[in-house]
Amino acid sequence: MRIAVVGAGIIGVTVAHALLDDGHEVEVIDREGPAAGTSAGNAGWIAHMDILPLASPKAWAHMPRWVLDPLGPLSIAPRYLPRLAPWLLRFAAASRPSRIAAGSRAIHALNAASLPAWEKRLEALGLGHHLRRKGILSVWTDTADFAASAALHARQAALGIPVERLDPAMVRQLEPTLAKGIAGGAHYPTGAHISDPRQFTEALADAARDRGARFTVASVAGLDAGEAGVGLRLADGGGILPADRVVVACGAWAKPLAASVGDRVPLDTERGYNITVATGSLGLSRPVMYEGHGFVTTPLDTGDRIGGNVEFAGLDAPPNWARVDAMLGRLERVIPGLAIKDGTRWMGFRPSMPDSLPVIGRATASPRVIHAFGHGHYGLTQAAATAEMVAAMVMDRPPPIAAEPYAAARFKTGF
Ligand SMILES: Cc1cc2nc3c(=O)[nH]c(=O)nc-3n(C[C@H](O)[C@H](O)[C@H](O)COP(=O)(O)OP(=O)(O)OC[C@H]3O[C@@H](n4cnc5c(N)ncnc54)[C@H](O)[C@@H]3O)c2cc1C
Repeated sequence: MRIAVVGAGIIGVTVAHALLDDGHEVEVIDREGPAAGTSAGNAGWIAHMDILPLASPKAWAHMPRWVLDPLGPLSIAPRYLPRLAPWLLRFAAASRPSRIAAGSRAIHALNAASLPAWEKRLEALGLGHHLRRKGILSVWTDTADFAASAALHARQAALGIPVERLDPAMVRQLEPTLAKGIAGGAHYPTGAHISDPRQFTEALADAARDRGARFTVASVAGLDAGEAGVGLRLADGGGILPADRVVVACGAWAKPLAASVGDRVPLDTERGYNITVATGSLGLSRPVMYEGHGFVTTPLDTGDRIGGNVEFAGLDAPPNWARVDAMLGRLERVIPGLAIKDGTRWMGFRPSMPDSLPVIGRATASPRVIHAFGHGHYGLTQAAATAEMVAAMVMDRPPPIAAEPYAAARFKTGF
C-alpha cells in the first residue's frame, strides 16, 4: 500500500520503519523535516518504569503548592484557562480511582513493551549504540513523600519492574554530587536513556530513507477520506496527495487533522523546558528524577540536560525562560556549589491527552486513517511499541497490545 505518515517526529519516523517492515511504500510528510518538533529536545528517557497517569494522587498532592508558585513545576497561564477548561474537566474526571486504575494498566501495557520494542527495532537497524543502560534514579527531598512512595514501588515491583529503595547514604554512593537535602531515592537498574533525542530521531529518519521511505517537506491542512483512498490536502496551494492509508503522527498539532476525519479529541499541550550544559557539568552519571520538583537531569552525549516543567499556555505563547532559571535554582538545592551560567535553552510542546494515554487507532470516519499522537510525557518511550500497533492495524492483524484503551472513541462517551 501507499502510506503517508504526517509528522516526522519520533512517532512518525518509527511508524515509518514498522510500515517498511511490511513492504509498504512510505512517504513521511513534515512541514519542516525530521526532528523539527518536541522529539528534538526531550529528556531522552525510555521511562518503562512509569505506571501512573499525570492525574494521579501523586500529582494532586503537589498541585496546590505548584499552582501557587508562578514559576513552579506546573502552571496555567490565566489567559489560557478558558480554552483549557474542557481539558481540565476531563483531567479531573480521569482522577477518579477507577479511571486511574484502568489508565495505569494501559500506561503500563505500553511502557512495559517499550524497551523490548526499542531493543528489537534498534538491533535490526544497527542503531543499538544509541541506547544507554545506566539505570534511572528518582530522588526525594521530602521525608514524608519518600515514605509515601513505598506503595508505588511495591506496585512497580509486583508488575515485574526492578526497583531498589535507597537511604540518603546509598543515593550518595550512586551519585556523590547529590550531597544535600536528599531524603531517599529509588533506583531502577533496568532504566535506559538514549544518546541525544535529536540525533536519535534523525538517525532513525536517515535509516528509513535508506530503506526506501520518501521524506517530503509540506504542511498538511486536512484529510479527505473516501472509498478509494485518502487525499491529503497540502497547505499553501500544494494540491492533493493521494494515499491508500494515512497515519496522523503530528504530535501536539494533530487536532485539526483528527477533526477532519471525525475525531474531536481533547488534545492540548503541556509545554516543557530544558537547558543543556557542557558534558560533566552536573557530575551525574545516570538520569535522575527530582520527585516533587517536576524536572529531571540526563547525561546525554551532547551535554547534561536539565528539563521538565508543565506549562499550560497553548501552542502560540512565547517561551518564559524564567522557568529554566527556576529549575536551576531547585537543582542547586541538592547539588551544592552548582553555578550554571551558559547553556542552550529549549521549549517544546508535549502532545497531551487529559488521561495521559495516547490516541492510537483507526479514525471514526475512515478505517484508512490511523491516529498515532497524544503521547504526552512518553512519546520517545512509547514510539517503538506504538509503531508495531499501527503497522498491525494497517494490515488488519491483531495489535501486539490490546488497542481499546487508546481509541479516539473513548472521548465520545462523555467523561
Ligand atoms: C521537556 C520535555 C521532556 C520530555 N522527556 C521525555 C522523555 O524523557 N521520554 C519520553 O518518552 N518522552 C519525553 N517527552 C515527550 C516526548 O518528547 C513527546 O511525547 C514526543 O516527542 C512526541 O513525538 P511526536 O512525534 O508525536 O511529536 P513531534 O516530535 O512534535 O513531531 C510532530 C511533527 O509533526 C509536524 N507537523 C505538525 N503539524 C503538521 C502538519 N499539519 N503537516 C505536516 N507536519 C506537521 C511537526 O513539524 C513535527 O515535526 C518530553 C517532552 C518534553 C517537552
